[in-house]
Amino acid sequence: MKVLVLGPGGREHAIIRALLADPEVEQVHCAPGNAGIAQVVPVHAVDADDPAPATQLARELEVDLVVVGPEAPLVAGVADALREAGFPVFGPSQAAARLEGSKAFAKEVMAAAGVPTAMARVATTEAEAADALDTFGAPYVVKDDGLAAGKGVVVTSDRDAALAHANACFAAGGTVVIEEFLDGPEVSLFVITDGTRVLPLSPAQDFKRIFDGDEGPNTGGMGAYTPLPWLPEGFVEEVVERVARPTVDEMRRRGTPFVGVLYCGLAVTRRGLRVIEFNARFGDPETQAVLARLATPLGRLLMDAATGRLDEAERLRWRPESAVAVVVAAQDYPDSPRKGDPIGGLEAAEALEGVHVVHAGTATAPEGEHAGRIVSAGGRVLAVVALGADLDEARDRAYRGTDLIELEGSQHRTDIALKAARGQITVPSHSAPR
Ligand code: AMP
Repeated sequence: MKVLVLGPGGREHAIIRALLADPEVEQVHCAPGNAGIAQVVPVHAVDADDPAPATQLARELEVDLVVVGPEAPLVAGVADALREAGFPVFGPSQAAARLEGSKAFAKEVMAAAGVPTAMARVATTEAEAADALDTFGAPYVVKDDGLAAGKGVVVTSDRDAALAHANACFAAGGTVVIEEFLDGPEVSLFVITDGTRVLPLSPAQDFKRIFDGDEGPNTGGMGAYTPLPWLPEGFVEEVVERVARPTVDEMRRRGTPFVGVLYCGLAVTRRGLRVIEFNARFGDPETQAVLARLATPLGRLLMDAATGRLDEAERLRWRPESAVAVVVAAQDYPDSPRKGDPIGGLEAAEALEGVHVVHAGTATAPEGEHAGRIVSAGGRVLAVVALGADLDEARDRAYRGTDLIELEGSQHRTDIALKAARGQITVPSHSAPR
């Protein structure tokens, strides 16, 4: 099997690592990739967000499968163009990717499919926004309707700040979704689907805020771990039956089947399970942790989903260890990340037992004082991923690796998976399924 992976980030590097471990996968190519991906597979300087060049590349390489990593190419219709050209694609059509591309659309689908989610209202004016804020009360949740790389959501108890965010979205020509605050631990569950059948991966938790203790602004994600020892038994099955399957059925019923990974962002609240959001692709950085544990060959799994041959009876196999991913971000991320600094300690970190480094915003400097060296090229620069017998050991290894990474001004959270390792996450009573 020859596979082309589209995307530039850590998620794609993690997917490629897993594909390379599948004996059925003979060759992997990536566009555009990053410095870490370029160390393991051929990369192509092609705009993967644009349907025409992406399809042209797949043709030139004569690949058997294309895996679309990020949301931007999906929303731009890259998967549609590739399918029209005859390629099996793991990733939803433009129409199906609206589940992520428009929060208002996702709410509408959830309502039609009977999927439990936060009560919400769409607002297009300041007066509507103010009314919705007062209906739901504090803490306020205001979401930019369109794609915002995980940064379009403001959760605050400050009514003026909530209204200011809504006004900023209106000023940019957008609409907002305002919803009730969901109180309870969050879970990311990735569900692989061929448009009909659904196969859940190992649940994970990510850390959205920039600082320890969930302080500071939202980011694309500062770390993740899996599995979640605190989840009630039967939780994954409940998500499959109450969330993933009805959503996949509803999308198929509308004539826009969803093929790829349905990322269910969930809250475990006092009143039970609620969907916070859907994404139309693997989550980053949860994928870095989840795929580190996957023992089932990934290439075959994604190919089966892309070609409508997923087997629900096949239970995925997982390594028994826990996985922790710690993101190393650039100075001043998420506002204005500093770029172009050399990164040291990569080999030393990878030499640690159970540790590997997944590159995100990295590049090989083409010229200048650092020519030929790996330098920072994005907000989230890399993730140090570790497997361990339990979360404590995985954390310990991941942080030992993180401490070896040298990048001027870099930042990382020190509390990834800490509460879970200490048994400090409690699921609100009454929320246990069934
Ligand atoms: P989203 O882009 O929808 O995933 O939102 C980003 C983050 O904002 C989520 O991971 C949550 O931490 C938080 N969030 C979103 N919606 C809500 C909600 N209704 N209640 C509480 N927190 C929320």
